[in-house]
Amino acid sequence: MKFLILGLLIFLTAACTTNNFDEAVNSINKEEIEKHVKLLSSDDFEGRAPDSKGEELTINYLKGEFERLGLKPANGNSYFQEINLVRIMSHASSKMIIEGRGKKIELNHADEFVAQSKHLTDEIEISDADLVFAGYGIVAPEYNWNDYADLDVKDKFVIVMVNDPGYHTKDSSLFTGNAMTYYGRWRYKYEEAARQGAAGIFVVHETGAAGYPWAVVRNGWTGEEFTLDSPDKNTNKSEIEGWFNLDKTREIFAAAGYNFDEELEKAKVRGYKGFNLGLKSSLIIKNDFSTSKSNNVLAVLEGSKHPDEYIFYMGHWDHMGIDTTLEGDQIYNGARDNAAGIASILEIAEAFSKLDKKPERSIVFFATAVEEQGLLGSAHYAANPIFPLNKTVAAINIDAPNVYGETSDITLIGYGQSELDNYVKRAAEMQNRNVHSDPTPEKGFYYRSDHFSFAKVGIPAIYLKSGNNHIHHGEDYIVNLLNDYTQNHYHEPSDEFYEDKWDLQGLVVDTQLLFKVGNELANNNDWPKWNEKSEFRAAREASLSK
Ligand SMILES: [Zn+2]
Repeated sequence: MKFLILGLLIFLTAACTTNNFDEAVNSINKEEIEKHVKLLSSDDFEGRAPDSKGEELTINYLKGEFERLGLKPANGNSYFQEINLVRIMSHASSKMIIEGRGKKIELNHADEFVAQSKHLTDEIEISDADLVFAGYGIVAPEYNWNDYADLDVKDKFVIVMVNDPGYHTKDSSLFTGNAMTYYGRWRYKYEEAARQGAAGIFVVHETGAAGYPWAVVRNGWTGEEFTLDSPDKNTNKSEIEGWFNLDKTREIFAAAGYNFDEELEKAKVRGYKGFNLGLKSSLIIKNDFSTSKSNNVLAVLEGSKHPDEYIFYMGHWDHMGIDTTLEGDQIYNGARDNAAGIASILEIAEAFSKLDKKPERSIVFFATAVEEQGLLGSAHYAANPIFPLNKTVAAINIDAPNVYGETSDITLIGYGQSELDNYVKRAAEMQNRNVHSDPTPEKGFYYRSDHFSFAKVGIPAIYLKSGNNHIHHGEDYIVNLLNDYTQNHYHEPSDEFYEDKWDLQGLVVDTQLLFKVGNELANNNDWPKWNEKSEFRAAREASLSK
C-alpha cells in the first residue's frame, strides 16, 4: 500500500511538470479575453486618455489583475511608473513665405506646410534662415551613407525627403530595398537634423513613400500634442519640426533654379551632395502648454534561475479619450487598439502564473502609457529603465491584434530584423501555421508601436499582426475586415467590440503562440541577436559591452 501511494505520488508529480504547461496554454481562453476587452473598451472607461478618469480606472484595473495573479509590483512597491508630460499646442503662422533669387513663394499652413515646436517656450521665432536640401537627411555608417557630409545646416531650415534610397530605387542592396528602415521615418529625420544643429526641419511628403496621405500629416501636426517633460525643456530638438507637401516643394526648388524630381533622382546615389537653395524664410510659432501626468503599469514574475534577466510583454493601455466637438459618438473606445492587446497580455500573465514550473528568467508585463501620442510611455521607460536594458533579453509587443477569427498564418512585422524570428516560427509550427513578413514593409509599421522604443536602445523586439488567411472563410474575408478597420474604425470612435464581426478565437490562438515564444525565451540561455543589416544591432552591441 505504502509503495502504491509513493508510486502514485511520483506519477502525479511527473504528470504535473509535464502536463501543466498545456494546462497553462489552455487557460488562455475566449471568454476571459472578451471580458477584459468589453470592460476596457466600455464607455465607462471614456476612451482611456492619459491623465483622465479613464486612466484612473484603467491602471487600477490592471493593478488589480496583476495582484490577483500574484505578480509583484515592478517599480519598488508600486505597479506604476509616473511620467511627467506636457500638453502642447503649437500655433504656426498661417503663411510661410520663402524668398530669394528674385522669387517669392507662399505656403498655406495645414494644406501646404505644417510646423510645430516641442520647445517649451511661449514663442519660437526663426528669421531669415537659409533653406538647405540634404537629400534623405540620413547618416547611416552601416550603409556607408551620410547626407550631411560637409553640409552646413547650422541654424538653417533643412529640407529632406521622406523614406530612404532603398524604397525609391527598389534596389535591395541599398538599405533594405523597398522595406522602410528607421532612417526613412520622419522621427529619425527630426532627430538627425537636431544633431546637425538645424534650426528647422521639413520633411517632403509623398503618399507612397510616407505610407499615408497628406491628411494624416495635417491632422497629426495641427492639434494638441503630448510630449515628455524633459529637464532641458526639449531644447535638444530643432526649434521647428514640420512637413512640406510635394507640389509646393517642386515650386520651391523651381524658384531656386532646380528640378526637385531630378535632384531626388541624384540623391538616391551614395555620395550625393546636398546644397543651399539660395532662398530664405522666417517663421513664428506660438506655444500654449501645460503640465500633465500619466502612468506606465508594470508587474513582474520573478525567474526561478535567472531572476536578473528579463523577457518583456508590452502593449499600450491608452487610447484617444473623448472628443466633445464630435456629433454623435464622442468616445474613442479603442477596442481593437488596444484593449484587445491588453486583454491578450493579461491572459499571458495568467498563463505564466499558473505554471508549476516557474520560468527561469523573469517575465515583465508592461502596459505602456501615452502610446497614441508618439510612443511616449515606452520612450520614458527606455530613458528611465527599472530593469537594466542590457539584462533585458527580448520584448514582445501586442498592439491592435487579430480580432477576426483563427488564421492559418501570422504576420510578423519586421521579419528579418532579428533571431527572434526563429522563436516565432517554432511556436507557429507547433500550431501548424506559417509565418510571413508584412506585405507592406514600405509603410514602416515596425517603427510605429512601443517595441520600437526598446529596439532603439538595442533590445531585440517582435511585433505580430493578424494573419490573412481565415481557417474557414479564406483569404479575402480577413483582408476585407482589416481594410474596413483601417478605413472606417482606426482611430475613430467606432473602434468598438462588434458581436457580429469579431471572433476572439483568433486572438486566443495568437496569444497562445506568444506565450510559447516567451516561455521558450525564459527557459534558455540565449541572447537573440539583431541580424547583420538591422539598424539596431550597433545599439545592442554598445549596450551589452557596458
Ligand atoms: Zn495601438
